[in-house]
Amino acid sequence: MINQKSVQLGSVRSVIRELFEYGKKRKAQIGEDNVFDFSLGNPSVPPPAQVEEALENVLKTRDPVQVHGYTSAQGDASVRSAIAGYISKNYGVPQTADLIYMTCGAAASLAITFNALLNAGDEVITIAPYFPEYKVFCEHAGGVLVPVKGEAGTFQPDIAAVRAAITPKTKAVLINSPNNPSGVVYSEERITQLCKVLKECKERGQTIYLIADEPYRELVFGGVKVPYIMNYYDESIVCYSFSKSLSLPGERIGYIAIAPAMRNAGEVYAAVCGAGRALGYVCAPALFQLIIPEVLGLTADISVYERNRDTLSAALESYGFTVVRPDGAFYLFVQSPEPDSDAFAERAKEHELLIVSAKSFGVEGYVRISYCVSPEMIARSLPAFRALALSYGLKRDKK
Ligand code: PLP
Repeated sequence: MINQKSVQLGSVRSVIRELFEYGKKRKAQIGEDNVFDFSLGNPSVPPPAQVEEALENVLKTRDPVQVHGYTSAQGDASVRSAIAGYISKNYGVPQTADLIYMTCGAAASLAITFNALLNAGDEVITIAPYFPEYKVFCEHAGGVLVPVKGEAGTFQPDIAAVRAAITPKTKAVLINSPNNPSGVVYSEERITQLCKVLKECKERGQTIYLIADEPYRELVFGGVKVPYIMNYYDESIVCYSFSKSLSLPGERIGYIAIAPAMRNAGEVYAAVCGAGRALGYVCAPALFQLIIPEVLGLTADISVYERNRDTLSAALESYGFTVVRPDGAFYLFVQSPEPDSDAFAERAKEHELLIVSAKSFGVEGYVRISYCVSPEMIARSLPAFRALALSYGLKRDKK
């Protein structure tokens, strides 16, 4: 018999993918413009022009054997140096290239990190709502994911609840800010408090690693700051991806950065290299590694997302929905007007609105709306949202 756990994982689609597939079928039936698909977190704005320029430059000026060849397993040395330099300059951390590992995006960064850190039965605390794949990556590495509910309404980490969830088996705390699915950016105050708890554990002899999953770091609005965890806690690992900031999710490029101040940084880096090797995640796509030094710090035009957020949240609030105001990413978290968010998402489908129930993100009573879509689709969808609100008897223009 082959591995049944893998068979099961490969046979069952995530709720998000299920809805996306439904959307494709529905569009074929009633027309592309009549379905309002808010299911996926696929960036809707093109990469910045500099990505194309950098690609042309690399293809024109570099030796094709190098461009299309293997890099070192952990990534090209000059690329890792450029990233280390960027981190040092922008976040004030003396990052070095020998603690950077190039990956195929945040998914690979997380899978590698879990495999590097966890022994069988080790626990990883994360804050709900959370990205559902965390459970898959963590369990595959032999770990146990321990979701701890974020503070009601704000979805900031509940520090007392995190403290209560720590056991002798806790090996890591995983945070994701800006958050998928809530769009919330964790405040500096909460990060400081969280790190205080972890430092207390360290003083008592238990090292708990802090992992930040950061594909949305640059997607913030109104000058909101995303604290860089290495400045708050030495035992930190950043799992970064260029998928969302540069609108390059299909190119599979990201990295793992290990805090230079970490007590056993060299050993953890060796474990990351070992886990990458064991998983076959070596030598991330060479062409896209090579353009990274030229586009570090750039983003796609995120003003489109900010405008979408403003249009959608203002409209939904005016129809009577309760919305968690997001400071980042491209997701709107909306309270379900009925306790069962699955039923709400199903009713939304009757209005051709494809929105994701937050149960699979570990939270009851909310749905996620991905607003990385065209502003035109948002405008077209508003009458459907209004009709959905009316079907629940929600009051319009409650302000
Ligand atoms: N982590 C979070 C919170 C995400 O939302 C995603 C993708 O949507 C990922 C990780 C995976 O990102 P990547 O495409 O870089 O592997």
